[in-house]
Amino acid sequence: AFDVLVVGGGPAGAAAAIYTARKGIRTGVLAERFGGQVLDTMAIENFISVPHTEGPKLAAHLEQHVKDYDVDIMNLQRADKLIPAAQPGGLHEVRLENGASLKARTVILSTGARWRQMNVPGEDAYKNKGVAYCPHCDGPLFKGKRVAVIGGGNSGVEAAIDLAGIVAHVTLIEYDTDLRADAVLQRKLASLPNVQIITSALTTEVTGDGEKVTGLKYKDRNHGSAHEIALEGIFVQIGLVPNTEWLKGAVGLTQRGEIEIDDRGETSQAGIFAAGDATTVPYKQIVIAMGEGSKAALSAFDYLIRLNPA
Ligand code: FAD
Repeated sequence: AFDVLVVGGGPAGAAAAIYTARKGIRTGVLAERFGGQVLDTMAIENFISVPHTEGPKLAAHLEQHVKDYDVDIMNLQRADKLIPAAQPGGLHEVRLENGASLKARTVILSTGARWRQMNVPGEDAYKNKGVAYCPHCDGPLFKGKRVAVIGGGNSGVEAAIDLAGIVAHVTLIEYDTDLRADAVLQRKLASLPNVQIITSALTTEVTGDGEKVTGLKYKDRNHGSAHEIALEGIFVQIGLVPNTEWLKGAVGLTQRGEIEIDDRGETSQAGIFAAGDATTVPYKQIVIAMGEGSKAALSAFDYLIRLNPA
């Protein structure tokens, strides 16, 4: 059995594995796709102390750093069930989709999250070429340009306010008849001179010139009329979904499916920790996920040294 089994090989999982391996304890990392969301990212300009890198490059560095230590990496394997130990200090079990089963004294859950997509023509083709999901990450790339934000919930309206300070113009597009964001955010948004709000609008297509985004098409849901807006960027803000479906019933989750953790990264089950985008931690970013993974690892080590010798 492992002392620590890390489930998830993104920035949070990689950091956790390095921290526990450096304690000399038996560490395994199970990942469906080592590198996680970083693999889907192009320019990264907020990885502190590295002014510019690219996702696939950072993912390769993450993997190399983990491989510098004695860590069992089980890549391209998906966990589909977690069975917490029956007794305190006992072994937790992680079942894999392929039927195998792994046991560990502590588990660190770092299965990350995925942005909900619009699923319209052009969205996939222009990802990283104008279609973006993270305003903190990609906002500055659109300095002085025109962008749209899709989604009028809190994250969409926050993104629109944030972007309005950087870009030339923001069009906020909401499917419903009203925005759903908190009133204070809506008031702030309405006060900004370079923001237009369009409600009852269904985005139907992302248009481009083959290289980059040139606009979007939407349908007015009241009149059925079709419209087109010329712009350079589209921020999709219709939800970040944690990859925690497989954890239902095993650890405490919020209504939105985020793993509930305390300030040491421990879940509702003793000896099971969690870190990164899959958890309730505010702000989903690479440096934050790495910090959280390191914290969860130190907490797991702390838990292990307090167990009665077997
Ligand atoms: P993830 O990176 O999501 O990794 C999750 C890991 O868990 C993966 O290895 C995955 O395969 C694995 N996994 C999931 N389910 C299972 C399962 N059931 N069994 C086994 N393994 C599983 N952040 C920045 O700071 N700067 C940026 O510039 C930036 N740009 C971004 C651009 C894009 C397009 C996207 C999508 C995100 C961007 N982010 C950026 C956000 C950043 O990538 C995330 O905050 C970060 O990757 C979260 O790390 P994580 O380890 O928590 O999760």
